[in-house]
Amino acid sequence: MWFTSSWLIVLCLLQLAACATDFYKLLGLDKSASERDIKRAYRVMSKKFHPDKNPGNEESKQKFVEVAEAYEALSDAESRKIYDQYGHEGLKQRQKGGGGQRHDPFDMFSRFFGGNGHFGHQQGERRGPDMEVRVGVPLRDFYNGHSTDFQLEKQQICDECDGSGSADGQVDTCQHCGGHGIVIKKHQLAPGIFQQVQAQCDKCGGQGKTIKHKCPLCSGSRVVRKVNTFSLVIERGIPKGHRIKYENDADESPDYVAGDLLVTLTEKEPSLTEDNEGQLDGTFFRRKGDDLYWREVLSLREAWMGGWTRNLTHLDGHIVELSRKRGETIQPSQIQRVVGEGMPKWHEDGDSVYHIAEFGDLVVEYTVVLPDQMEKPMEKDFWALWEKWRKKNGVDLHKDSGRPDKPVMPKSKDEL
Ligand SMILES: [Zn+2]
Ligand SMILES: [Zn+2]
Repeated sequence: MWFTSSWLIVLCLLQLAACATDFYKLLGLDKSASERDIKRAYRVMSKKFHPDKNPGNEESKQKFVEVAEAYEALSDAESRKIYDQYGHEGLKQRQKGGGGQRHDPFDMFSRFFGGNGHFGHQQGERRGPDMEVRVGVPLRDFYNGHSTDFQLEKQQICDECDGSGSADGQVDTCQHCGGHGIVIKKHQLAPGIFQQVQAQCDKCGGQGKTIKHKCPLCSGSRVVRKVNTFSLVIERGIPKGHRIKYENDADESPDYVAGDLLVTLTEKEPSLTEDNEGQLDGTFFRRKGDDLYWREVLSLREAWMGGWTRNLTHLDGHIVELSRKRGETIQPSQIQRVVGEGMPKWHEDGDSVYHIAEFGDLVVEYTVVLPDQMEKPMEKDFWALWEKWRKKNGVDLHKDSGRPDKPVMPKSKDEL
């Protein structure tokens, strides 16, 4: 009793000196994390930082070791309690005292995922199918860049039974097929003539194993379907149709190494109300590569007489001013290229000092609308005005075209 309490005092003092990374933080969790949270975090992070996946990367190798350490400490109820109270030093003292042993991180990995602690496909192990999904992203996020989450239901190894399918962890070799998963069946083709056929064992469904007490969560199937949240970083200017790979995040199964989840970024249809708080014109820009397209409407008077200004609101809220001085005419369908107001140009290696300011162009096409009705006195005034100036120096397109007033007779063929 005396020994225990003084031992704890020593631990309290030692804890002050500890400066290693917090195990919870390391796994992206907080102290309230459940056993399952811890398992899940380890499952994800140990794969992510595994040296097989990051050859030559010392930093991720270190992370892999740390994640295994954190998992080892937090997955055991007793050591977690010690860690919560006395931190890293508490665990060190416990190890010195012989309680709890340190494991090889690869050992930990193999206990969790099976195999020899390395990635399956290098050992020729089976790999599951890749999974493809499309995520709709509004143009604004392509322009500004955005970090978001998306949710996806996928097959996961059952947390309850750790993929064994058994409630008590007890898995027996199938008596029927002797663990092979296949049985030899004899068919009689004709009297005295038999054919031997290999067939999947129907007692164990080809697994070679049977479970007496099935896991209540997955009913022995070893996997469950669950909604997962994935974080998604949309780099600014990233092309439409770009594919982002989430390694080994496709459907999981204890029988294979999960394939990759491939996320294709598509452009969401713009909406007047949804995702458009600022009522930005930019929401309705159309994108073609690095250029943006916009159609601006002018009245007849504006197109003809000039003297107007339009403040276009771009995708980040900044204003692009379009204007003409009085007397500057715009023809219907006239195109104006506003240099540098298109999409940011995306580079595979991210923004750098060399290309941070590169943008495509904004292509504005002008549409001119003519009034479809006019008040009578106004119409009269305009008509009179036209008559006045037309007689003086107006243009008569009919006369000026040089076309005849009467039908033209074809020339006689006699000349041939
Ligand atoms: Zn289960
Ligand atoms: Zn069997």
